[in-house]
Amino acid sequence: MAKFTRDLGSYKILVIGAGPAGATAARIFADAGYEVDVFDQRPHVAGNCFDRYDEHGILVHAYGPHYFRTNSKELLDWLTQFTEWISGEYYVEAKIFERTVPLPISIATVEALHGKSYSEESFLEYLKKQRKFEENYVAQNAEEQCLQLVGSELYEKIFKNYTIKQWGHHPRDLRPEVTARIPLRINRDTRYPSETYQCLPKDGYTQMFQNILLHPNIHLHLSEKINSQDIHKMRTQYLFTMYSGAIDEFFDYTYGPLKYRSLKFNWKHFANTSFYQSRVQMNFPNEHEFTRCVEIKHVTKQSHSGTTICLEYSSEEGEPYYPMPLTKQEQLYQKYKLLADQESLKAEHPIYFLGRLAEYKYYNMDHIFLRSLNWSKEKLNTLGGK
Ligand code: UDP
Repeated sequence: MAKFTRDLGSYKILVIGAGPAGATAARIFADAGYEVDVFDQRPHVAGNCFDRYDEHGILVHAYGPHYFRTNSKELLDWLTQFTEWISGEYYVEAKIFERTVPLPISIATVEALHGKSYSEESFLEYLKKQRKFEENYVAQNAEEQCLQLVGSELYEKIFKNYTIKQWGHHPRDLRPEVTARIPLRINRDTRYPSETYQCLPKDGYTQMFQNILLHPNIHLHLSEKINSQDIHKMRTQYLFTMYSGAIDEFFDYTYGPLKYRSLKFNWKHFANTSFYQSRVQMNFPNEHEFTRCVEIKHVTKQSHSGTTICLEYSSEEGEPYYPMPLTKQEQLYQKYKLLADQESLKAEHPIYFLGRLAEYKYYNMDHIFLRSLNWSKEKLNTLGGK
């Protein structure tokens, strides 16, 4: 439990979590003159965006690769106060037995898969033959979404087994939105994301988060686990609380635990090896127990004689990383959301829930930054300044 040395007051804000949601809100309110206490149970800032130098001196993304991209110039400009950028070389390939194909699905993918060239017309013809549902059909699950958009062959070879490995469920049991994250391109653009701005903080994510949180009004408490009982005791000292932890945990699992998917990482270092693979990410839908192999040096562009790779294994156990794209889980979340709404509607010392775990939503990093940025600015307007 935290110790408090400052005066109680109505200009203090409590933020739980120093990831994108918490750090952004903390900075916006600190800039407006509020005192902000930020707590994180981990010994570091940046949430799952955290990057660190490994024992060989290679900068790695400790919780899996984070590819910053956004369509929002406003967000980019806001973050540019805290970092310089390097361009994001975000290229992903999938190993389909003896072939290596670029993702997301584009003309280049089927060309690599079939070893022959396609025109736009012949690619569209191929898709038409492969597709199992009409364009206006509303896909009910991830299998139907794939069969409707890219058709049988690409579903079988690229999506089906990867999805089973990643989620521990068959695609026909999962929400269609999960595979719909991967676009279809009727061109040869092989960049993984589609957003306008694709870039990476020049000195890493951790440094960027440290800069966001470096403010005389922000009081950062790391390695401090604040549970809901603590928050209820502390909340009266604060104007409001912004909570970005897991929502089911906050409500003591009243309706039972929500399911999350976790990851396990197997790091390997190769001395005197510039690069291990040709791109930052290689997916393995049909072979190995791991889903993907990430060599982040491709995007950090670090100059080093060696390289570090990370094999990612999906896991039911461990820290919560992804909300499960299951209808039942979404319904369970909606029950928790009603409790959260009651907390945030309280006239005094409300608690607001924001972020991937607090909203049980598969946000990308930029979505969370932007959500927190917009929410904090709106909240400031309602407060009318200090
Ligand atoms: N996916 C797949 N095969 C791939 C890549 C992705 O089946 O080679 C599916 C899988 O269900 C995955 C989803 O698409 O969970 C979203 O992929 P994304 O790359 O966005 O996942 P993330 O990087 O967020 O783990």
